Amino acid sequence: RRDQAPVIIIGSGLAGYSLARELRKRDSDLPLMMITSDDGTSYSKPMLSTGFTKGKSADELAQADAGTMADQLNMEIRTHTRVTGIDPQAHQILIGEERLTYHKLVLAWGADVIRLPDAISASERVCSINDLEDYRYFRRMVEGRRRVILLGAGLIGCEYANDLRNGGFDVTVVAPSTQVMPGLLPEPAADAVRRSLEAEGVTFHLGVAAESVSEDNGGAQVHLSDGAMLQGDVVVSAVGLRPRTRLATAAGLDVGHGIRTDRQLATSAVDIYALGDCAEVEGHVLMYVMPLMAAARALAATLTGEPTPAKWGAMPVLVKTPCCPVAVCPPAECGGGHWDVQRDGNNVRALYRDAAGELLGFAVTGDYVIEKQALSKEVPPVLA
Ligand code: FAD
Repeated sequence: RRDQAPVIIIGSGLAGYSLARELRKRDSDLPLMMITSDDGTSYSKPMLSTGFTKGKSADELAQADAGTMADQLNMEIRTHTRVTGIDPQAHQILIGEERLTYHKLVLAWGADVIRLPDAISASERVCSINDLEDYRYFRRMVEGRRRVILLGAGLIGCEYANDLRNGGFDVTVVAPSTQVMPGLLPEPAADAVRRSLEAEGVTFHLGVAAESVSEDNGGAQVHLSDGAMLQGDVVVSAVGLRPRTRLATAAGLDVGHGIRTDRQLATSAVDIYALGDCAEVEGHVLMYVMPLMAAARALAATLTGEPTPAKWGAMPVLVKTPCCPVAVCPPAECGGGHWDVQRDGNNVRALYRDAAGELLGFAVTGDYVIEKQALSKEVPPVLA
């Protein structure tokens, strides 16, 4: 029967496990089940881009295996199990031919890596790193190698660039944008990050695209749109992530950039909720840890009988580039306001204000990062 069926969480990432913990704080007996296509290891994904700096292998980044988590959280965890469909009318999920009935369903299945064209991604020298398994594979690939070419200069590309340099690799970054972290950082702050990474020995090819990758004596040749060719050992694609929406669309749920939800994380289908990287909450797709933690607390309250909207204050993103620390609170919409920039070498304070002088966002680098908390207090909340 439906009302005796469990709350089913799909996904064992930070979103899935945070929700399970929050639910258990409120109700130790609620029937709960987690289904995950990976091995269910609990780990902190942001640590993937600090592995070399902190001297941690993939195994050392694992916090607990699925069996330990199942005991701790008093729930069944089905690992290596891929959900293949949802039947919202029947309140069931499909795992191939098998059907499981849920009381409430939470989609916490994350985001997909944006795939580059086959001329690049088909090469065995190319990988992307979006989970612990990928990271384990990558660490094996770079063992005994020296030259890493990173495709993409976004937050994750820059973090890996810094971390790999700290690990002693020769690092080259290729990206079609003319600055690092476009869309996240104003130009002067991006310039400070690039210069700091260059001072550490990272080489940049910005404003050019990688067109193809060919293999050469166990290494890789990356062919660029300006005709240049780079020699590397391993190519890491870090060109971005996109919320996983395919199964939600197929089930008839309302989908925009992510799976659309209201403030209570409810999707357009009765008793189905979305949380974490896959969710678009009232128009916001925020693929970071702080928003998913706050949303998990609110959703746990809702699922245990206390309907609670998610509240998001200003949540600064801390970019893990130790050679040039960055805190950024991107303005909700970049129109109408202007950036006031103060710069002293690679220390940048960029404040985004509207015509009335109200602070709508900021980016601080280097010594100015110390101001992040004070500035965050001035910025209006994302969801009040
Ligand atoms: P995921 O961790 O991707 O989990 C998705 C889960 O769903 C997985 O268990 C997967 O196996 C499962 N799944 C998918 N499809 C199915 C299916 N069909 N059936 C069953 N299971 C399925 N954020 C910050 O705030 N600060 C940082 O410093 C930071 N650094 C980062 C560094 C890196 C290198 C990366 C990649 C991300 C970083 N982020 C950071 C972002 C942050 O890590 C993510 O927002 C967060 O981990 C997303 O968690 P999630 O649970 O939504 O998704």
